[in-house]
Amino acid sequence: VVYVDNKIRAGLFSEAHLKLLAAFASQAAVAVENARLYTLTDEALRGRVAELQTMQAIDRELNAHLNFERVMQITAERGVRGTGAAAGWIGLMDSEANVLRVIAGAGPADAARPETYPADAPLLGSVLAQRKPARLAATLGGTARLIVPVLREGRAIGLIEVERPKANFTEEAEAFLARLADHAAIAIENARLYEAVRQANDAKSQFVSVVSHELKLPMTSIKGYTDILRQGMAGPVNDQQRQMLNTIRSNVDRMAVLVSDLSDISRIETGRLKLEIGPVSIAQALEETLVGLRPSIEGKNQSLTIDVPPDLPSVRADRSRVMQILTNLINNANKYTPAGGRLAIGATRAGGFARVSIADSGIGISPEDQAKLFSQFFRSDDPAVRDQMGWGLGLSITQRLIEIQGGEISATSESGKGSTFSFTLPISG
Ligand code: ADP
Repeated sequence: VVYVDNKIRAGLFSEAHLKLLAAFASQAAVAVENARLYTLTDEALRGRVAELQTMQAIDRELNAHLNFERVMQITAERGVRGTGAAAGWIGLMDSEANVLRVIAGAGPADAARPETYPADAPLLGSVLAQRKPARLAATLGGTARLIVPVLREGRAIGLIEVERPKANFTEEAEAFLARLADHAAIAIENARLYEAVRQANDAKSQFVSVVSHELKLPMTSIKGYTDILRQGMAGPVNDQQRQMLNTIRSNVDRMAVLVSDLSDISRIETGRLKLEIGPVSIAQALEETLVGLRPSIEGKNQSLTIDVPPDLPSVRADRSRVMQILTNLINNANKYTPAGGRLAIGATRAGGFARVSIADSGIGISPEDQAKLFSQFFRSDDPAVRDQMGWGLGLSITQRLIEIQGGEISATSESGKGSTFSFTLPISG
């Protein structure tokens, strides 16, 4: 109402005044309504923005963890916090046992909660079956409950329930919890996939470890007996037989390389690789490595230049692993460079690290291949690569060996011109 009066003079207001005031009142009504709407939408907007921000924070939190339990815990806690509830929990369907399994809870009521509910439990069962939220008012000072399904590809894979004494939940709280359930569903799926991949990877490492171990013994025996036969220690052998035995021997050597690569991979992946760390001289390790590699470099008439400054400090590393790294990289340079090409090995100090580079004037690596260079079993489709013996494991092992010793490896290359691989290792002391 709009009210005006005058306590001194009577008969002051005419019909015209009334009309004027009525007109003013209806104008005022529109203005008041507008203002209210304005602040209301403003408030609603603010609420929506705040919720989006919360959701964003929740997403960040959820996606930062591929750990299933953690994701569930975050969801339960965020559900309780976001709806102003006193307690809450999240449960997922265990379709084998046909029960709803409580995975994580938040709030004090948690302790009293059973571990599972039957899939057709009152209320919970109907939320699951109908895939629709349920909001229960707190009757006579009882508990208000809000339950939303967690949906995945149209199926209810679980639910989130929050509760609090006396005060009912609002529609907004329900909308928030439903949205949280949507976001959680994706994070749950991601965490499950991650877990499945991790288990598969563990199984693979286990398999590789058993197989490579089991292969070592028979190979040693094949090697030994072949050598005895080759050397004529078990009776005379003619040239053709010796040739065959040589073929057997070189094939066993190839297998031995693969088996030792596989066993390195499984040791690195399961964290069972033992390193004997100490000061290692790059110059000495290089010299020793080259003893085994010079014949193939000379066999291809490749020139080799070495530039290691005499005052280069030792690195802190495992000597035999440094030689393995050098062998892999120099061997590749030799394999993937045509006869008559150039190889250059250099080392410099770069801050707290020594940087070793192995450059070749070989076939080079295309930009697409460079992106995959360090992945397991990668080999370029280039016929010049396929001509060479290899499994595509050397570089991935080399990279892991360098990284666990605190260094880094990188490669630059130009197709047809050559490649340079450089790696760092921390300086000792
Ligand atoms: P492998 O030599 O057994 O194939 P690696 O893991 O050592 O396995 O190398 C993977 C692939 O990277 C090779 O197959 C080849 O395609 C490419 N590559 C590695 N080193 C060189 C190099 N120096 N020049 C050209 N290509 C290379």
